[in-house]
Amino acid sequence: MSKTELEKAKAFVLNTGRSLMQGISMEEESKWSKKYFDAVAVVEMNPIDISSLGVRDRVKVYNEHGSIVLRVKPSNNVPPGTIFIPMGPWANMLTDPETDGTGMPRLKGVNVFVEPTDEPLTKLIDLLKALGAKQLEVYMEDAPLKTGDKKVVENVVCPFCGDLCDHLTIEVDGNKVVRNIGGCAISSAKFLNYHRHRILRPYIREQGRLVEVDLDKAIDAAADILAESKYPLIFGLASTDVETNRYAVELAELTHGVVDNTSVFCHGPTALAVQEVGAVRYTFGVAVHLADLVIFWGCNPLEAHPNHVARVVMREGRFVRGRKERKIVVVDARRTPTANLADLFIQIEPGRDYELLTALRMAIRDLDIEAPTVAGVPRDKVVELAEMMRTTKYGVIFFGLGLTMTGAKYKNIVAAIKLVQELNEWTKFGILPMRGHYNVAGSNQVSLWTTGYPYAVDYARGFPRMIIGMTSATDLLSNGDVDAALIIASDPVAHLPRKAVEHLSKIPVIVIDAKWSLTTAFADVIIPGAYVGIECEGSAYRLDEVPIRLKKVVDPPPCILCDSEVLRKLVEKVKAKKGVSS
Ligand code: SF4
Repeated sequence: MSKTELEKAKAFVLNTGRSLMQGISMEEESKWSKKYFDAVAVVEMNPIDISSLGVRDRVKVYNEHGSIVLRVKPSNNVPPGTIFIPMGPWANMLTDPETDGTGMPRLKGVNVFVEPTDEPLTKLIDLLKALGAKQLEVYMEDAPLKTGDKKVVENVVCPFCGDLCDHLTIEVDGNKVVRNIGGCAISSAKFLNYHRHRILRPYIREQGRLVEVDLDKAIDAAADILAESKYPLIFGLASTDVETNRYAVELAELTHGVVDNTSVFCHGPTALAVQEVGAVRYTFGVAVHLADLVIFWGCNPLEAHPNHVARVVMREGRFVRGRKERKIVVVDARRTPTANLADLFIQIEPGRDYELLTALRMAIRDLDIEAPTVAGVPRDKVVELAEMMRTTKYGVIFFGLGLTMTGAKYKNIVAAIKLVQELNEWTKFGILPMRGHYNVAGSNQVSLWTTGYPYAVDYARGFPRMIIGMTSATDLLSNGDVDAALIIASDPVAHLPRKAVEHLSKIPVIVIDAKWSLTTAFADVIIPGAYVGIECEGSAYRLDEVPIRLKKVVDPPPCILCDSEVLRKLVEKVKAKKGVSS
C-alpha cells in the first residue's frame, strides 16, 4: 500500500451476521441474483465514520486475507470504529480462517482497513474467479408447475431456520404453492418460490464444462470420486433431514473420511462448551408458559428467526400473561431491530462478552466490581442486569453467533452456562443457542448418537475421533488436508473464509442440492435433491432439541429424489466399488 493510501485508510473492526434481506433474497431468487448482491454486497457504517473518511457511496475494505469494494449503507446502529457486512462471499474474502482450536473461523471482530474509493464494486463473478471457481455456468430452471387439485395442508413445519415453526397452513393448487399462512417473510419466500432456480438434472464436469447426464451416471461418478479418495470430506447436512445425516456418517466410515456439519461455523463452540460443563436447557413451551425474563445475547431473531419473538416471547403462557408480564433484555455489539423491542439494551464492546459474563457472575454473588465500566458497559448497568436475573421467577437466555464467533469462542459459552448454573442457586434459569439452519441441531444429534462427537468426526483410522482444530471442515480445507469433498444441502463457498474455499478449486467436489448454490461453481458432479419439508417428509430437531416430523406438501419434480434416497444409493455404490458387502 502506498503512503497516500495508508493516510486515507482507517482501521476498523468487521462484524458479519445474518440480515432479513439476505434470507429473503436467497429464497426468493438465488445467490446468483441481483437481489442477493444488493442485500449482501454492502457495508453498514456509522455516519460519523462515513463523514470523517469523506466517503461518497463506496469503500474499499481490505486486510491480509483479501480486498473488496462495497456500496456503503449509513447506519446509526453500527458503533463508530466498526463496520457490518452481511454473511456471504463478500465478507468471507476478509474473514480469518484461524479457528483457535474450535473449527470456527473468526467471522466477527476481524481487523480490516477501510478507505473511500471510486473503483468498481466487486461483483460475484470477480469473487468466484479470485477463489478459483472451476466454471461459472449455472443452468437454473423452474420446476414445471401444473395447477389442478386444490388442497390445504395444516400444521406444516417450515424448513428454514432452527425455530421449525410447525403451525403453518400451506395452500396448494396442483403442485403450485399459492399461500403460506403463519410463516414469516423468509418462510413465504421459500415456499412460494420452491420451484424456482432449481437444479433439475444431474451434471458432470467434462473438459471444463458441465455436461448433463442421467442420475445413475452421476451417482457412479460421485462414487468413483469417493472410493478413490484417500481422505474425503463429507460436509453440510444442516438443511436436510436426520435420515440423510445418518447415511452421511456411514459414508464417512466407509471411505475413512471426515463427516462434518455446518455447526462448524455457527454453534460448534456451543457443542464444545456443553461437553465441558453441561447445560441447563428448556423447551419453547417452558419459555412461553414460565419465563418472565428473556435475554437475547449476541443474536437478532427479528431478522434471523423472524417468527421467534411472536411465537415465544409475545405469546400468553399459562403462568405469564405475554409481553406485559415478561421483560426483554438484549445484549449486543450493535443496536439491532431486536434491541429496539427491549426493556433494557446493553451495548457491549465487540469481542468482550467473556468479561461481561464474568462480571455478572461476580455481581450475582455480591462481589465488588471495581472497574467503572466492564466491556464498555457502566458498572451500574451490570449490577442492574444481575439484579434482574437474580430476582426473576424464571429467566431464559437465547444466545447467538455474537457469543460463538468472537474472541473467546467456546469459553464465552462456558462462562454463559456457568452464569446460568449459578443463577439456579437463586431462581430458575435456562440457556439455549439460536440455531440457524433448520436441522443443524439434528446434525449434531445424529453425529452424537452414532459417533459420540457432535461434529468434525474423523474416520481415518476406521473408528470415530474428533480432534478439534484439525478435523473440522474449516481446518481441513484451509490446511489442504482433504483430497475430495461431498457437499450435501449446504453452501460452504458462501460461509467459509477464502483460504478454505480456495482448496475446493483444487480437489474433486460433489454437490447434492435442490438449488444452484455458489459451491456448484466448484463442483465436478452435481446431483439434484428435493426439498425436505416441502417435497419430502423427514425428521429434524428444533433449536431446543425437540424432534419434529416435517411434512411433504407437493411432489418433487420428475426424476428428483429425496436427499436420503440419493445418499442411500451413493452408499450402496461406494460399497460395491470398495467390495464391501451390504
Ligand atoms: S421463524 Fe424460521 S422456522 Fe419460523 S417461519 Fe420464519 S424462517 Fe420459518
